[in-house]
Amino acid sequence: MTQSFIPLSVPSLKGNELKYVTKAIKDEWVSTAGPYINSFETEITNYVNAKGSVAVQNGTSGIHIALKLLGVSEQDEVIAPTLTFIAAVNPIKYCGASPVFMDCDESLGLDPQKLKVFLDEECEKKGDELINKKSSKVIRAIIVVHVFGNMSDMESIMEIANDYNLPVIEDATEAIGTFYTKGKLKGKFAGTIGKIGVYSFNGNKIMTTGGGGMIVSDDINLLERARHLTTQAKSDPLYYTHDEIGYNYRMTNLQAALGLAQLEQLENFINVKKRNYDLYRNEFTSIDGLSLISFRENTRPNYWFYGMKISEKYPLERKDIIQRLSDNSIQARPIWDLIHEQLPYQDTQAYNISLAYNFLNSIINIPCSSSLTSQEVQRVIKVLAELNR
Ligand SMILES: *Cc1c(COP(=O)(O)O)cnc(C)c1O
Repeated sequence: MTQSFIPLSVPSLKGNELKYVTKAIKDEWVSTAGPYINSFETEITNYVNAKGSVAVQNGTSGIHIALKLLGVSEQDEVIAPTLTFIAAVNPIKYCGASPVFMDCDESLGLDPQKLKVFLDEECEKKGDELINKKSSKVIRAIIVVHVFGNMSDMESIMEIANDYNLPVIEDATEAIGTFYTKGKLKGKFAGTIGKIGVYSFNGNKIMTTGGGGMIVSDDINLLERARHLTTQAKSDPLYYTHDEIGYNYRMTNLQAALGLAQLEQLENFINVKKRNYDLYRNEFTSIDGLSLISFRENTRPNYWFYGMKISEKYPLERKDIIQRLSDNSIQARPIWDLIHEQLPYQDTQAYNISLAYNFLNSIINIPCSSSLTSQEVQRVIKVLAELNR
């Protein structure tokens, strides 16, 4: 008997998606203006408790604009993690600037301790600016990524960033819905803690618009400028006057229609993902050599991706596990290769990277769709348990 395929992460579109998209088409509002865009922005703003938001084409364009808003330009440097998806870093290059790569901590997010040592020892203040002694370039900002929906150590990172007067961009593309439940950031959502946050609604994210993104901030002036820059920097809509180089980065009404329907279901998606996460985690306690990466204490994570950690006690290596799962019609994927080792970044400074290498060799992402059933989770577990007999 052939088994049905269990994908890694696919969208679930069983709410009001068809209804809203149909309405957008019937109303003939399909492009970068229309009522769904405004509603979607408002609903996201309310959900994450920000001051405002600007809908964009995707997470990558959102990060590009965030860097522009902070004045990142040619010859600047931006601190960024090496253990992440490359879209968190490429926009630094779009600005003509360069990343300085940092290690991760146990949460897979940026390691605040190494960040502090780097800033203390490898950089020096000159006037208002912070100079990287090695390159003599100005450090302009820090990009933090909440990997797999797990909050980075924002309490520590914000303290350090504030000490050095460095603005933080939160790549919260994987983390919409994650928030602190305790401590001094209690109630704060991932994406709303730094200066600017960016969400992604790509097809594999926890909620999708097919492709799309959102910039959020508490700084209304920045958001206004974001709207301007993403709309070709058009300062007069009649005479088409442009006061700087802009971009065509706006979200369409069709995308926003999908997004609004998805947002209505986000808390349900998170509940299913939590249930499946707990199920995997419990069953792994009886499989030697397998565990799941924990989410940060004192937060409510969105449980977007499950990082399965393999130790030496497990008899198979990463690539063999992925192959055997695939033989059983189950999709799994290794964690990303480190960015500082990728061809376009091999000449870029990477500061004392160590823990990221551990994770690089030991983490596999296993099926986690918001439509994944308990039975399907049990099927994945059974294959993993049998491989270790
Ligand atoms: C998905 C993702 C992005 C980019 O978002 P897109 O909407 O696909 O452009 C950026 N950073 C990280 C960490 C991501 O996972």
